[in-house]
Amino acid sequence: MAHQGLIIRSTGSWYDIRNADGHIFQGRLKGKFKIKGLKFTNPIAVGDRVTFDVEDEVENTAIITDIAARENYIIRQSVHKTAQGHILAANLDQAVLLATLAMPRTSLGFIDRFLVSAESFRIPTTLVFNKADILSDEGLEFQQEIIELYERIGYQCLSTSATDGEGVDAFRNLLDHKVTLLSGHSGVGKSSLVNAISPDLNLRTNEVSTFANKGVHTTTFAEMFELAPDTYIIDTPGIKELGLMNTSKEEIGHYFPEMRDRLNQCRFNNCLHLNEPGCAIKEAVAQNEIAESRYMSYLSMMDGGDNRR
Ligand code: GDP
Ligand code: ZN
Repeated sequence: MAHQGLIIRSTGSWYDIRNADGHIFQGRLKGKFKIKGLKFTNPIAVGDRVTFDVEDEVENTAIITDIAARENYIIRQSVHKTAQGHILAANLDQAVLLATLAMPRTSLGFIDRFLVSAESFRIPTTLVFNKADILSDEGLEFQQEIIELYERIGYQCLSTSATDGEGVDAFRNLLDHKVTLLSGHSGVGKSSLVNAISPDLNLRTNEVSTFANKGVHTTTFAEMFELAPDTYIIDTPGIKELGLMNTSKEEIGHYFPEMRDRLNQCRFNNCLHLNEPGCAIKEAVAQNEIAESRYMSYLSMMDGGDNRR
């Protein structure tokens, strides 16, 4: 009998499949299972919805027979731009970038690169600024400016503190009934904030990890955790940057929402907004309608550099 399930963990050859009852099977692909247009080095990722047959009721093993079409997916940044990508996760409802303007301070350049990647994957993103409790008055003012900057562009922002509980309810509501990619540099407070909303997650993670211990689990695979019914977070341990969908220089401006609306106002329709005359983007920067920091991030991406600020 065919069953439906969700891939919650991958080791590259074995996949943990969770069915609607919360039961976990260890699945694999059999024989020469071909996936349409194999663009990636791995055929299945966390978040994939699959059809499977139970192979062994006692061992809980399963054979995956089909993979549902993906709503969206994210890939890992490939060092060689032309190499096949590695798909990290599929079917995401949203991304949350956890940042902090305290230590270790997240740079605006990093935030912008993340947002551009998420735009290219069409994944709505919320910025969460953690550790508000240790910001000075000046720090809080700066955080408010940064939040206003991103809200003006259209990104939802939250200020949180895992330590004193500020914004923790709003963070819980943000994740509720969604599949969320939770990203952010190590040390910004991802574990603390997740534990603040779901104290029993550690237990759950152990439960999950006692299953598929076959194969080698490396940090190139994302993991999915169930926080509450129908509420999942996807963690990509060790992965600092998302890739971009195959993007040409002409397209980068389209992934800055505040530039997107102005692109057709440039004098030249192939304007890259660098030094061309009659550039509506440069004009908007001069008028403070586009933030200088965002334009700097744009330039650094056009440069192909990653210019950490
Ligand atoms: P992760 O690497 O992103 O999972 O970060 P952790 O949750 O491990 O947190 C890193 C450090 O920052 C730990 O020492 C936490 O206690 C501390 N931390 C996390 N959230 C906050 C916060 O909101 N305020 C303060 N002051 N410290 C925090
Ligand atoms: Zn222009």
